[in-house]
Amino acid sequence: MKKILVLNTGGTLSSIKSEHGLVPGIRSGDMMEELRMISKNLQLETEDFCSVDSSNFFPEDWAALAVRIAEVCREYHGIVVIHGTDTLAYTSSMLSFMLRGIPIPVVVTGSQLSIAHPVADALENCRGAVHMAASGCPGVFVAFNRKIILGCRASKVRTMSFDAFESINYPNIGEISSLGLHIRREYLPPACRDKTPEQLRESFQPRFAYSDRAFLLKLYPGIAPEIMDHLVQAGYRGVYIEGFGLGDMPFLKHNFVEAVHRAVERGVTVLAGSQCLYEGTNLTVYETGLKALSAGVIEARDMTAEAALTKLMWVLGQTNDPQKIRRYLEQNLTGERVQGW
Ligand code: ASP
Repeated sequence: MKKILVLNTGGTLSSIKSEHGLVPGIRSGDMMEELRMISKNLQLETEDFCSVDSSNFFPEDWAALAVRIAEVCREYHGIVVIHGTDTLAYTSSMLSFMLRGIPIPVVVTGSQLSIAHPVADALENCRGAVHMAASGCPGVFVAFNRKIILGCRASKVRTMSFDAFESINYPNIGEISSLGLHIRREYLPPACRDKTPEQLRESFQPRFAYSDRAFLLKLYPGIAPEIMDHLVQAGYRGVYIEGFGLGDMPFLKHNFVEAVHRAVERGVTVLAGSQCLYEGTNLTVYETGLKALSAGVIEARDMTAEAALTKLMWVLGQTNDPQKIRRYLEQNLTGERVQGW
């Protein structure tokens, strides 16, 4: 019988009403009865990693969670992580980098209503997650609303609907329909697809280091360029900028591109993304993009904001060498960006 570990971190799925509003409160052991209903023929074990609203889940928690998963991954066929939905996509993205090449499925899920609620989506999402975890498909995934999404492609796009997550600029890895759980293995990242489970088990080398000196900055008309200088002074080593449209940045009057150039000259990595959710950047179309490229930015292309920021943090944790940093960021490490764009 396949062994699956359910690691609970909190969020709405485990929430209860309190005088301070909804708070995570149900322990994973107390969910066992419900979880057993959706996982006949599987041996489930549960563990409480923590019990927090995901607004209170921090980068050090990503690393500790990745360490815990790496510690136990050889004892289970798959691992489910129950997580609050608000920052779930940041966690699934960072786990994708830290646990790159993991030989088993790690499936992050949550819900929009507590498992204690009679009409909740919680059990349906857990059902998708548990069965994906038992699928033998290696990698980090998100299971939500009968969809399986690559962990580094997920984004929360709705605040209330059950269909809260989408796979951005990438097909769903799987779907649950009347045909059962259908997984499209052809969309697994090459690092997982091309190796046998034995090869993955031998080669798996998690990397937990990251830098907390990465910043996410959203441009708006009139933004003061000096903000870049302040970030450099504050010791930030990387900035992910959500630019306009294709990733463009202003250079007249309030010359933001010049400020970016100053930051790059001082060794800061600037990753240029878009405020648009879909289709990614192309800085070679407009003067506003070409000038940013000349200033030394690296294009985020089709990465989600969650993947771009966590990748920047992770890469800055691996090396200080500007050329290696660029190479990592421009490479498709785990399905987060299309190569050879
Ligand atoms: N505030 C909750 C959280 O992210 C929302 C949820 O889980 O749906 O922990």
